[in-house]
Amino acid sequence: MSRAYAEVIGDPIAHSKSPAIHNFWLGKLGINAEYRCCHVGPDELAGYVLERRADPDWRGCNVTIPHKQAVLTLLDSIAPDARAIGAVNTVGPCEGGVLLGRNTDVEGIRRALDGIEVRGQRAVLLGAGGAARAAAFALKQMQPATVTVMNRSAAKAEQLLTEFQLDGIALPLGPAPEAELVINATSLGMGGQPPLPVTLEQLPAGAAVFDMVYAPLETELLREARRRRLRTIDGLTMLVGQAAAAFSTFFGAEPPREHDAELRALLTA
Ligand code: NDP
Repeated sequence: MSRAYAEVIGDPIAHSKSPAIHNFWLGKLGINAEYRCCHVGPDELAGYVLERRADPDWRGCNVTIPHKQAVLTLLDSIAPDARAIGAVNTVGPCEGGVLLGRNTDVEGIRRALDGIEVRGQRAVLLGAGGAARAAAFALKQMQPATVTVMNRSAAKAEQLLTEFQLDGIALPLGPAPEAELVINATSLGMGGQPPLPVTLEQLPAGAAVFDMVYAPLETELLREARRRRLRTIDGLTMLVGQAAAAFSTFFGAEPPREHDAELRALLTA
């Protein structure tokens, strides 16, 4: 008998934590559906989209490396956030079988920053790649006073400031300037990557540090922030937040967030 499903597609894909998150919520809600992991190589993307369009059991997919940009041209409609960022991470069928591309990383960032005062404050954004573009989009809506973008490639940092109309300057990676919020959206500090050459000595008491890296969960940046008694937000908070936004699109129900502690324990076991 057929069964509704959603999935995550990418290449490589086996490391993805999305199936564990979505299947945990499906189980808690007793929804008869599943969330799978599907390996799709670069040459297979167009065929994948064509095939899934015709599958009545398919509820949509999450999209990860290397398809986040390429999938834009294969969809019928692109949400304004995904259009501005230039990347789609969630595809869901909507009314009339029209395929809509969205970027739920923005929602994940918003949820991760829930309770942090951003309006009128100074923010520092580390990185200028895809995740940083989602952060720039989210920050623009939160109206910080300034955003300093620190990135290896100065041109990309300048471009980010201009494109998202943020008031701020571009700097190379180094000691973070005085600010109330620092967001790491580089891949530095991740397992297998070089350390992040950013220190936090200029941050005032009460500042918050959000690291998008989730492997490891306790990064050197977050360790330094804790030593300095600053507020910390880890990458899993964003990962679960962006998955929550996708889950309701796929399965038409809000995920049961009251089980977050159990979910985090499962994901970090
Ligand atoms: P991109 O490849 O698009 O961007 C990578 C960024 O890291 C760029 O700013 C790049 O700088 C910088 N960088 C990479 N290597 C180096 C290096 N050796 N030295 C200096 N800078 C470097 O990746 P994404 O934006 O997609 O992802 C960035 C991070 O965010 C990853 O760790 C990813 O796992 C995490 N992420 C977490 C999510 C979550 O839900 N928690 C969701 C999405 C991403 P340059 O521009 O100079 O190349």
